[in-house]
Amino acid sequence: MFSQKPVSPLLISENLAALKSEIPEGIALVAVSKFQPVEALQAAYDAGQRLFGESRVQELLEKIPLLPQDIKWHFIGHLQTNKVRQIIGRTALIESVDSEKLIDLIDAESSKAGVETKVLMQVHVAAEYTKFGFTPDELLDFFRRGRHRELKNTVISGLMAMATNTDDETVIRSEFRTASNLFRTISGEFFDEKGSFRTLSMGMSSDWPIAVEEGATLIRVGSAIFGERN
Ligand SMILES: *Cc1c(COP(=O)(O)O)cnc(C)c1O
Repeated sequence: MFSQKPVSPLLISENLAALKSEIPEGIALVAVSKFQPVEALQAAYDAGQRLFGESRVQELLEKIPLLPQDIKWHFIGHLQTNKVRQIIGRTALIESVDSEKLIDLIDAESSKAGVETKVLMQVHVAAEYTKFGFTPDELLDFFRRGRHRELKNTVISGLMAMATNTDDETVIRSEFRTASNLFRTISGEFFDEKGSFRTLSMGMSSDWPIAVEEGATLIRVGSAIFGERN
């Protein structure tokens, strides 16, 4: 339905097993299934995977009813404000909150629906100007103004970051380190030790080992599990 590419359940389960043997204990793995057919997600599910990441609202809403109901869906793409209402109550975590307007809307819609929504704030640390997210300064400013305390039905659970798409490991590491330092600063200044702010989502197929070394608690891996996207 989303891709004509043939699905090999065996390859997907082997990829997952290989990944899991490399990922250190305690690091959560989101299988990024955007553009993949439901058969590919089902294969990963059958191999034990329960966390999936999607980046488009329409695709997420089409997939949810076709797959087991105990899947935890993470939304990882840019979320347009006019689509917020449609996904409230459908996700375990919205990883990609990239503006104050968006978090206010998520909070308002969550209140209306009578649900609590967990989110990560997306921080822009990459050199590429196309990436969405708060700059580190904007994010610190958000918390200093106490904006997180104004939220009623939204729980800020941490940060999400993407590094520049480059082969230069030094660049990638330094961007992840910036995100990691910011994560610790915010956590220390604005949250209790036992509070909600615990997740640092960074690292994809090509750079997750560096992200883990720099303190990621959750990685988002797509092509290393499912193969290349069409
Ligand atoms: C697509 C995507 C990923 C996964 O990318 P891969 O290179 O396929 O592992 C991770 N995070 C976000 C935000 C994405 O959009």
